[in-house]
Formats: sequence, structure tokens, C-alpha cells
Amino acid sequence: MTYRIVFDLDDVLCNLREPMSDALAKATGKRLAWQNWTTYDLSVLYGVGLDHCLSAFLEHEVLEHAKPEPGAVDAVRVCRELGCEVQVMTARGWHPNGDALTRSWLAAHGFVIDALAVVGLHESKAAAIGAAGGADFLLDDSPRHIQEVMDAGTVVTPVVLCRPWNKHVTNASRVRSNIEFCKLVMSRMAAEVVA
Ligand SMILES: [Mg+2]
Repeated sequence: MTYRIVFDLDDVLCNLREPMSDALAKATGKRLAWQNWTTYDLSVLYGVGLDHCLSAFLEHEVLEHAKPEPGAVDAVRVCRELGCEVQVMTARGWHPNGDALTRSWLAAHGFVIDALAVVGLHESKAAAIGAAGGADFLLDDSPRHIQEVMDAGTVVTPVVLCRPWNKHVTNASRVRSNIEFCKLVMSRMAAEVVA
């Protein structure tokens, strides 16, 4: 039994919240700890338009400054060693060079994956996953993407990576790290072998 696993990138495999909070502090003069980001909608928290946020992210090169989350490279490697197909799907389409930049970032940090999909900021991951034949797991921190795959039924097991902005999402499995997610995949696989 192999699974098709879709990993989100930002604030799942990499830490984008720290470079984003630095960029927003420089652009708005407002310094908010990401631990207090209680919504995914940063323009509401910072009181500026989305365009303003995105230009701050471009100007301060947040994607370039993102660091891998601890254990993320290993979690992806173990999933692939278990025979799973690993896709990274990110909504970095807002960045003019999002695709190429992401490919070189992944390679530079030692991520080996089967496929990368870059979708638009407001696009539906549920639809993109559905168009590709569905997936067994999606690990994401975005309440919207988790809800949309649940509504569309295109992912067997949607899993939320716990962040301050998704505490209210309680109708899906939750993990605290990529390694914990990996253990969930392994236990699902073991249960199916026994069954
Ligand atoms: Mg994310």
C-alpha cells in the first residue's frame, strides 16, 4: 500500500512566519509576535491591504529567507522510503518567480520530492488535488484549504499542522510537527497491513 501525500510548504515544511513577521513590522511599523496571529488573514491583523502585505514580502525576500522546519527533510525522506508519492503544493503563485525560487530552495535544503505544484493565492488546492486524481493525505496549516478538501472529498485524510491561526479547526486530524505526521502515516500503513 502506498499513499499519495501532499505537503503544504509555508509554515509546514518551512518557517515563513518569522520572515513574514519581520517584513510586516518593517512595512507597517507594527510588531506582532506570530504566536499571536489568531487569523490566517494578516491584512486584518496588520490593518493594511493584501497588496501592501505582498509587496512587503517581495521587498524583504521572505521566501528566500525561509528556513526548513526541524525534521521536515527527514519526514519527507521517510515518507518516500515507505513508498509514498510526495507532492509539495504551495499557493506561492502570488510571487512572480514563485515556481523557480521554490524549486531551487527545496533542492538547496535537501528536499527530494516527486512533484511540485504552485497554485495561485486564491486558488483551490482541493480542486488541484482533485484534478490530479485525489490524494490520501494533505498536511496543511491553512484552515481554508483543509475545509475545502473536506468539503470536496478529494483527500482521504486531511491533517492540520497546529499553528496559532488554526486552533479553531477541530474537525480534522491535528499534528504538532512533520515527524508526528510521518508517524501518523506509518501507523495508518501498519493498520492496513494487519487488516
Ligand atoms: Mg501554509
